[in-house]
Amino acid sequence: MLLPKFDYHEPQTLEEALHLLSEYGGNAKLVAGGTDVLVRMKLKVDKPSHLISIDRIPGLDQVIPRERHGVTIGGGVTAAALSRHELIMDRFTPLAVAAGRLGAPMIRNRATIGGNLVNARPAADFPPPCMVLNATLRLKSNAGERDIPVCDFFRGPGETVIEPNELLVAIDLDTPPPWTGGAYIKLGERKALEISMVNVATLITLESPQGPITNARIALGAVAPTPVRAFAAEQLLIGETPSEELFRKAGEVGVGMCSPITDHRGTMEYRCMMIEVLTKRALGMALEQARSWKP
Ligand SMILES: Cc1cc2nc3c(=O)[nH]c(=O)nc-3n(C[C@H](O)[C@H](O)[C@H](O)COP(=O)(O)OP(=O)(O)OC[C@H]3O[C@@H](n4cnc5c(N)ncnc54)[C@H](O)[C@@H]3O)c2cc1C
Repeated sequence: MLLPKFDYHEPQTLEEALHLLSEYGGNAKLVAGGTDVLVRMKLKVDKPSHLISIDRIPGLDQVIPRERHGVTIGGGVTAAALSRHELIMDRFTPLAVAAGRLGAPMIRNRATIGGNLVNARPAADFPPPCMVLNATLRLKSNAGERDIPVCDFFRGPGETVIEPNELLVAIDLDTPPPWTGGAYIKLGERKALEISMVNVATLITLESPQGPITNARIALGAVAPTPVRAFAAEQLLIGETPSEELFRKAGEVGVGMCSPITDHRGTMEYRCMMIEVLTKRALGMALEQARSWKP
């Protein structure tokens, strides 16, 4: 399949890219790793007459620890870079694990976190970990800058609140408090190069290693038109002493917050069962990490 004709731009600065975006408007598309946009163009789903690469814009491919508390991840950071970044592995574990499970090595070397979030596929790997880590997305256009909490970003399959003239510059994450642990589980039909049938990210904060849960977050992917924050299941956990039974109940409540479909990857019934099983398992993994938290 051949690509349709288009003009290719390689801006050297963010300002130049934003200027091109505003000039060509709906006829232009940004391209980061190209692993989604070029496939969609080959399939003739997208037909932009201008492609604007973000490859050469300085800083977009950087993971920068913030001076006081947290980290800023450039929109152009690849899955491969995130999967092996020490700070991300230690303090933002669900994100590092998800990055290591996205596609295959060749895809991970090109695919970016920004492209994955903006592409907004219901089964995508990055949205659930970004949700449990309470990420803030920084969007820039010629007209200015705005911050959007990731939970307000997704509108439906392939749809987000981003405007055609905006670029996702960075993802800001606050460092979770002490005695916090997190997990990410992706279930596919096979272990390699697979899109999720169900995916689950969790985060648990404890008062002390053997103490009650002071905060809990659960996000589920591939089980509704957008990724889902299971708020009711989280509420069940807060203030309680962790136990297998409690985590099982949270999984049960989580199922009620989803509306999975039957497709070639799995039936609705199987997905519901797996939401329960994987939520319980991912909460157990987060608990284990929270209890072994190190300063
Ligand atoms: C073989 C294969 C396997 C895959 N496996 C997985 C998988 O397991 N899990 C998964 O989640 N995905 C998977 N994908 C999908 C894809 O690789 C990811 O969604 C990837 O993260 C997209 O990033 P990208 O940089 O390639 O985006 P691109 O293709 O460059 O862009 C995607 C969309 O985002 C826009 N965009 C890109 N960057 C920005 C930005 N900074 N600001 C604003 N808009 C932007 C583009 O205009 C385009 O609309 C797979 C794809 C292929 C081809």
